[in-house]
Amino acid sequence: MAYINGRWIETASQLEVINPATNEIIGKVPVVGKTETIEAIESAKEAFKSWKKTTFPERVYYLEKVVTLLREQHEEIAQLITKENGKPIGDSRDEVESGIAYIEWYAEEAKRIYGDVLPASSQNKHLIVKRQPIGVCAAITPWNFPFSMITRKIAPALATGCTVVLKPASATPLSAVKVFECFDKAGLPEGVINLVIGSAQEIGNEMTKSEDVRKISFTGSTAVGKLLFRDSADTVKAISMELGGHAPFIVFDDSDVNIAVEGILNTKFGNSGQTCVSTNRIYVQSGIAEKFTKALTKKVSKLKVGNGLDEDVDVGPIIDQKSFDKIMEQIEDVRDKKGKIICGGEQYANNTGGKFIQPTIITEANEKMLIATEETFGPVVPIFTFETEEEIIEKANHKHYGLAGYCYTSDLGRAFRVSEELEYGMIGVNDSSPFVIQAPFGGIKESGLGQEGGKYGLEGYLITKYISFNANY
Ligand code: NAP
Repeated sequence: MAYINGRWIETASQLEVINPATNEIIGKVPVVGKTETIEAIESAKEAFKSWKKTTFPERVYYLEKVVTLLREQHEEIAQLITKENGKPIGDSRDEVESGIAYIEWYAEEAKRIYGDVLPASSQNKHLIVKRQPIGVCAAITPWNFPFSMITRKIAPALATGCTVVLKPASATPLSAVKVFECFDKAGLPEGVINLVIGSAQEIGNEMTKSEDVRKISFTGSTAVGKLLFRDSADTVKAISMELGGHAPFIVFDDSDVNIAVEGILNTKFGNSGQTCVSTNRIYVQSGIAEKFTKALTKKVSKLKVGNGLDEDVDVGPIIDQKSFDKIMEQIEDVRDKKGKIICGGEQYANNTGGKFIQPTIITEANEKMLIATEETFGPVVPIFTFETEEEIIEKANHKHYGLAGYCYTSDLGRAFRVSEELEYGMIGVNDSSPFVIQAPFGGIKESGLGQEGGKYGLEGYLITKYISFNANY
């Protein structure tokens, strides 16, 4: 399916959308390819000529209208997210809230795109630095936040005066259609945003090779991010990448065990463990390890697994067979390498048709296990123990990933020292939910480039233009 130049395009070829909790087909979406992607880019290029000249109140008008339309459908969108993604309904409601908040935030930020006037080094000269929209932006989004990853890209792009061609994940296209229906209803001028659903390779290829696309904003795996990065080199596009992560969660002896356990429930089992900022390694200082492990196991063993539409479900299904197989392979590898599975460790038996994994805790984990370095996208977590602050800083930093990290301690000096040394773009100190719209969201190393969120999220959509006026003319 495509939404190009303000029109919905239907095609014969269809993509089936599957509910991962039941394996049922919940919708069919026509797919498009190369031709439509070229058309979409062309339409965004044409629209940019006038959209870039709009004043901020004009742009804000549409963003605010969309906020109202989305709010009216808040619950409907949350239900849709759970149906196509599987996450518990409470997590979907939170996602809708944060997704709308991004649009609200950038509707406000649109009025704060400031330039500079510089002191001149010779008389009669006037030096001005302007911020202008970068141009046509191609956005590619993942299935794990099928709604908010879209608004987090579209909102700052529109606020700055850019136009957009968006490709959502094939597993979750229905949330994307919903967002575009609202922009359509809001009367956004034709071509300002365009949607293409279909083959990732075909669409991605047109996006990267196009000379008219000036920026690629991608959220997804590090492997695909690297590919898009390489393919964008020939046209020297601006790049924003929000990629994979492998978050450490450090618990020092002086931590409050119950608060740290709640932090793990949030960062590992929230969104069924399928987020880029999910805890991937728990490091507990030896003095508190037994108490912490016991308290965590007690809570985790009570988590309810099932269809995310049931209000009391804590952990939903794994998105697809491939992801399921990868996690089960990691669990097998733990067994082979003499790790101890003290909770879960098996497929969760059910009769709903989806693929579920029991919430799993691993102890006696070691650095040789796949799980110690590979991203685990599911409700499975290993516990490592450590002795000293120096040792844990060394271990917690990952060779490749640098997205999020968490540190729990009641020693203020240690909190500062450790957060300073952790090589991650975002750090929660005694805080398992540091991610808010006003803060920068982004990683370092192979976890990404650039930031989304807050005033930082505008940067990637702007160019800096310097103009020197000679008044003695
Ligand atoms: P993915 O396989 O990289 O897919 C992400 C998007 O890229 C989808 O729209 C996908 O389309 C598209 N894609 C795949 N191959 C492509 C290609 N050759 N050219 C152009 N586009 C291509 O990742 P995922 O499995 O959906 O998401 C999970 C990953 O995303 C995890 O690693 C997670 O950590 C990361 N993530 C990062 C953040 C962050 O902010 N850092 C947030 C959420 C997720 P199809 O669906 O059609 O294949």
